[in-house]
Formats: sequence, structure tokens, C-alpha cells
Amino acid sequence: MIPVLLGGVAFAAMEGVSYAGHRWVMHGPGRGWHRSHHAPPSGRFERNDLFPVCFSVVGVALFLLASGPLPILWGPAIGVTAYGAVYALVHDVFIHRRLPLPVPRLRYLAWLREAHLDHHRGGGEPYGMLLPLVRGPVAGGADPVLLDRSAARRSERSMRARL
Ligand SMILES: [Zn+2]
Ligand SMILES: [Zn+2]
Repeated sequence: MIPVLLGGVAFAAMEGVSYAGHRWVMHGPGRGWHRSHHAPPSGRFERNDLFPVCFSVVGVALFLLASGPLPILWGPAIGVTAYGAVYALVHDVFIHRRLPLPVPRLRYLAWLREAHLDHHRGGGEPYGMLLPLVRGPVAGGADPVLLDRSAARRSERSMRARL
């Protein structure tokens, strides 16, 4: 029971960690990498993809510690990794359409998409992903195309660039 509880707490706590990381690292000293995600897509990958690569080191370290000297960390290791997987599914697959996978029609997902669109429009709040409760004033009109980072959208852009 305790590992399940710790896993749930770790999953929930990760929303706070990702909010802080997005706001004060990615839009702070890590701006050099994150800028690529706010710019029009220019290829299959973005420099911003280096962030999840770095974060995955934390997950691997937790699993190594859990399977070694600190078995109490099994729950947190699974919770943190599950958060990363859900974040990638919601942000990269559902919101930015980077993989052509079917997306369930849920009001919760529509709310997340709308909130993240505000972030891309204004470059500020909301920084949260799975519980974007902090919202701020947003400049600019509705432009859902802004979020489309799919392969089709990329080739359309490169076609236009060649004309
Ligand atoms: Zn951002
Ligand atoms: Zn985004």
C-alpha cells in the first residue's frame, strides 16, 4: 500500500516540479533550448527535446536506487516516470500532434489544449500541463494552428518556403 501511496504523491508532486521547471528553467536560463519549441517547427526534432532526455536521467537514477539500496523509492520511481509518460502523451502527441495517434475526445484534454494554447500565444501563464490552474492575460487571437507541430504541417511549411 505504501509504494502505491508514494507513487501517487510523486505523480501529483511532479505537476509542481514541471510548473517550476517550465517557468523558471525553460523560460529562464534554459531558454536557449526551449525557444525552439515556441518557434515554428523546422524539423522532426527540436532542441527543446533535450529537456526530456535530461529529465529521464532522474527517472533512471530513481529506478537504480530503488533496485539497490533504497527499495522505498519504487513508488516514487514509477510515479515520476508515469508523470513523464503522461506529460509526453498529452503535450507532444495530443496537443502538438507530433505522432499520428488517435486522441480520445475528453473535455479534460480539450481544457488542457486550450490552456497550453494560451501559453504558446502569450509566452507566459499557464506553465502547468496536467493541472493548468494558474492563468494569465493572453495577447493575440485564437490560432489553433500555432500548436500543430505534425509532420503534415512541417512539410506544408517547407513546400511554401520553396515556392
Ligand atoms: Zn514554454
Ligand atoms: Zn507546447
